[in-house]
Order: sequence, then C-alpha cells, then structure tokens
Amino acid sequence: MHRSSDQRSSDPTEFRKGIDWNEVEKATGSDLLAAQANSSLSTEAFSSVPDGYRRGRHKYVVVLGTVMSGLGKGIFASSLAKLLKDKGLVVTPLKLEGYLNIDAGTLNPYRHGEVFVLDDGTECDMDLGTYERALDQNLSRRNFATAGQIYSEILDRERHGAYLGRDVQMIPHVTGEVKRRIRDLALYGDGSKPADVVFIEVGGTVGDYENSFYIEALRELAFEEGPEAVCFVALTYIVEPPALGEQKSKAAQLGVKRVMEAGIQPHIIGCRSTNPCSPSVLEKIAMFTNVPLKRCFSMHDRKSVYFIPEAMRESGLDREILSVINLHDRVDLAHEDRSRERWMSYVRKLEAPRSRGIRIGLTGKYASVRDAYASIDKCVEHAGTHLECETELVWIESTEITDDNVAGKLKDCDAIIVPGGFGGRGVEGKIACVKHCRINQVPYLGICLGFQVAVIEFARNVLGLKDANSTEFDPDCPQAVISELPEQKKIEKLGGTMRLGGQQVLIQPETLAHQLFGKTLARQRFRHRYEVDPLYIERLEACGMIFSGRHPEHPIMQILELPPSDPRPGVGHPFFIAGQFHPELTGRPLRPQPLFMGLLAAALQRRYPKIEVPKWSRTLSVS
Ligand code: GLN
Repeated sequence: MHRSSDQRSSDPTEFRKGIDWNEVEKATGSDLLAAQANSSLSTEAFSSVPDGYRRGRHKYVVVLGTVMSGLGKGIFASSLAKLLKDKGLVVTPLKLEGYLNIDAGTLNPYRHGEVFVLDDGTECDMDLGTYERALDQNLSRRNFATAGQIYSEILDRERHGAYLGRDVQMIPHVTGEVKRRIRDLALYGDGSKPADVVFIEVGGTVGDYENSFYIEALRELAFEEGPEAVCFVALTYIVEPPALGEQKSKAAQLGVKRVMEAGIQPHIIGCRSTNPCSPSVLEKIAMFTNVPLKRCFSMHDRKSVYFIPEAMRESGLDREILSVINLHDRVDLAHEDRSRERWMSYVRKLEAPRSRGIRIGLTGKYASVRDAYASIDKCVEHAGTHLECETELVWIESTEITDDNVAGKLKDCDAIIVPGGFGGRGVEGKIACVKHCRINQVPYLGICLGFQVAVIEFARNVLGLKDANSTEFDPDCPQAVISELPEQKKIEKLGGTMRLGGQQVLIQPETLAHQLFGKTLARQRFRHRYEVDPLYIERLEACGMIFSGRHPEHPIMQILELPPSDPRPGVGHPFFIAGQFHPELTGRPLRPQPLFMGLLAAALQRRYPKIEVPKWSRTLSVS
C-alpha cells in the first residue's frame, strides 16, 4: 500500500469531540434527528454532522448509474459541475468507490486505468483527473473515498474503544461515516471556500452489492438535509439493437426502478444512447420513472467530450438542476458569460479543420490500453488543439523493441514519449527508443521512468558505463546511476514508501525547461521511489546532459535535457527533455502542459521544416 504523506488524522477521539445533539438538532432542524438525539441515537457515540456545519448552506447533486457501467458518469458529472462552476458557484466533486483498496496505488492500470495522483499525494481513480481537467481545480484526498477507507476508519475507532460498548453496524455507523465525509467535504469546499454544491458520483451501478451502503447513506442524507438540498440524477442507457433498428426503453426503465427500490426518487434522468433519444422513448421513461418529461434528457454520444457542457446548457439541464436545488438566485451571469466564452474558444479550435498532422509514439507496457495512459492522451490532445494540428498517438509495445528493430518500429513517428512505469519488463526496449531518439534527433519527452531510462542510456552509451542501470531492475548493479538513496529517504521522511504528490522544481535559467515553463519555479506531481544517484551527476553533466530542474534544497534531479547548441554528435539535440515528475497530471484544456506543447511544436517542426511553427507561448501554461 502506498500511503500519501498527508494522511487522515489518526486521533481516534477526534470525531467524538463536540457532539451535542441539541446542536445537531439546531443545525439540521430535523424533527426526526431531534427525536433520535433524545433516544437511541444519543448512545451511538458518533456524529455524521461535523462541527460548524449549517444545514441549508450546501447543496448536493448525486449522480447514479443504472443498467450498466461505462456510461461516462464521470464525464457527465464533471461537465455538469463545470457548468455550475461557470455560474460562479463553488463546486467540489466526490468519487465514492466500492472497492476495498484504501487507495488506487495498488491497482493495476491494465485493469483499472491509470493511477491519478493529486497534489497532496493521494493516489486515486482516473476520474479525479477528469474532474480536475473539467473544473480546472486541484482536488485533494477529501474528494475520493473507497469502501476500504471507510471500513478501516471505523475498525480503527472500534479498536480504540470509541464506540463505548455499542455494537458497530452498517447502519448507522458505516452510513454515518459516509454522511460525515460528505458534509466535511461541503465545509472544505474547493479548499478556499465552502462548497455551494457537492457533486457526488457513486462508482458502479445501482443494484451492485458493494456500493449499496453509499446509496443508503445518500438516501439518508437527502432525508436529513430536507427538501431542495439534494438532486438525484439517474443516468440510464437506451439500447438500440441493430436487428430492431429502433430504440428500446425497457432496460432503462428497469434500471431506474432499482434506484426507486432503494428509496430514492430521481429528480433528473439522463438517457445515454448512441443516437438522440426519440420523443416516444423519453415519454416512456418519464411515465415509468415519475420524472416530468422536461427533466428527462437525451445524453447521446457527441464527437468530443468537450462539446458536452454546451450540449447540456442548450438542453436546459443546468437550469433544471438549479430549480431542483433552488439556486437560481445565486447565479453570476457575467461570470458565466466570461467562462463560457473562454471554453467556447477552445471548442471552436477543436472544431476548426486542421491542415497539418503529426504522429507521437508512446512506448509502454500497457500500450494496448488507452485508459492506462489517459492523462498523456489528454495532454497530447490539448496541445494539438492549441497548435492547431491533428495528432495521432501510436502505441508501441516496449517489450517488443530491440536495438535491431527500433528504427523500423519508430519510423513513422515525429516524436516519442516514454511514459512512467514500474518493474523491469520492457525497460531495455525503452532504452533502445531513447538511444534512437538521441542519435537521430527525434523529439523526445521522458516521463518519470522515461527520465530514468534517459539517464541510463546516456550513461551506457555516452559515458561508456556499460553496466549502468537502476537498482529497481538490477539490485546488485555495479553502476547504479538510478537508485533508491537512503539519505534522501531520511530527508523526505517517507520511509519505504514512494515520493508522492506536488513538489517544487527549481528551474535553471536559460535552459529549454526555462523557455517552456517561462519561470524558475514550477510545481509538479511525483510518484517514484528511485532517482539519479548524485555520485554520477558531475560525469553526466561533463558529457553534455543538463539537469535543468532540481529540488530547491536536496540533490534530487527533476528535469534533464540535451542542449540544441552542443556540437558533440549524439549530444546536441533539438528537443530532448525528461521530467522525474508526471507532467501529464497537471495539463488542463485551457492551460496545456508546457512540456507537451514543446514536444508537439518540435514534432511539427521536424515534420514540416519549411513552415514556421508558432512559438510556444507562456501565456497559456499551467502555473
Ligand atoms: N519505477 C520508477 C520509480 O519508482 C519510476 C516510477 C514511475 O515511472 N512512476 O522510481
């Protein structure tokens, strides 16, 4: 298990402090809560209402999936949250996962998609990346809960005797903990202001065994918070069997019935479908779900996810949500116009025809699975849109690459990305890619492991250290240019765990990195255990490698590059850069990541030597 450095408080008595049921009654105004306060619940030894919480101050939008997984709940919820944020409201999302892992750090990206890392070091589901990109907002551990976290918190408390002799139960203790987290997040909001609206996405599908306690907790939340506080949105799926050639609504009706069986009447239905939903299908859905027709929306497939917010706005979905939670009078129209215009300028670029195109090779172990590299895919897409060129990601399986076949495998690529990774499989193939790019002046971007293999390749083939390697792949390596350094572990106080989350990178002036970031201090997100051994830095630099980004205090190398001006063959290079961090985690559509912008601009230059490629401008970059 990889724990982040910023963990929950472990003080088992903390949640007991300040529980005053009269206060709870005042805060919630709920007669039922008041009655419970005087009877059985007063002995429950916990509160699902954090100190300072005011009922009515925060609203909640809950997105539930029915019929099947893979409906795009995350994209739906994040687009909707963005629309509300554009209106000047403070929004914050919460992803509730049903699995028992404490975080996503131990999940295999091949099965589950990439592990996304937040600035505070939380390793979470890739959906949090979707929210960060849509909202252009940094999230924290509070925005992500797993069943494992909830149970482990409760079991810890139980072992500390905190339940005062009471038997610990799914209801009220587990559901209570879910409600406490939700309300706690509402108070925390976006980190600077309390939330006007919390968007809650329940992982999985209604009817799944593992998320049922979340759904019960949300039902209770709606009851306790009272009318106009919680808007339930059920996403469902309209099938269109090719043999019938028409849309059928029965599966969708049955799916929504599962929500109603759980005691929840949805306020809004979003009908996912391939084609726009026919009026008769929407009428049937309305009739059999008790939801007025004007609140049943066709959420059919669009050409791009970036069109979804505007499509929602045009269909009036945002207005209906505001009506359900009675927030119309809090909308800032000027703010909405400004935000919408910025977003639409990106959408217009996305739609404009592009006369140029480039191919970017991505070498990795999980090359056949797009979700494993979702954020890289997005960063390339954003940079391509800003540079107005078509981009194609070419997935190259690194385990199949050798020195002999590398030229053939990469021949159609205008630039190469070697992404992050763990374990030795495919590493020699990645090293062969680096060598090919370095010698043939192919634009190169190394990410985390891609940074480490660039050091190994340079040490082997330029410094002549034939056995250079990382102790991750060869623990007894005699020339361990990449290793796990005990002193640095002490400095970072991370023990055996990984270096996770946001860190400052001090950038050397007048380097490629400086030109790209446009500043000397950039915050980037890390997820690694190994790093460049400082013993080799002087020799690497003497041979031409520049460590243009470092930790501000410790000898941790964070960006490397080869300078264009170096006259030595195999050293001077038009664009060769790598980061020990994960630049793809901080790219946003309207603020594309500088390293990706640089890579694509260099690829364009290589593919179209005669045209003038727009210089990458700092004005758009991520701060
Ligand atoms: N396996 C390497 C390390 O732990 C690189 C990690 C990564 O690419 N995220 O340092």
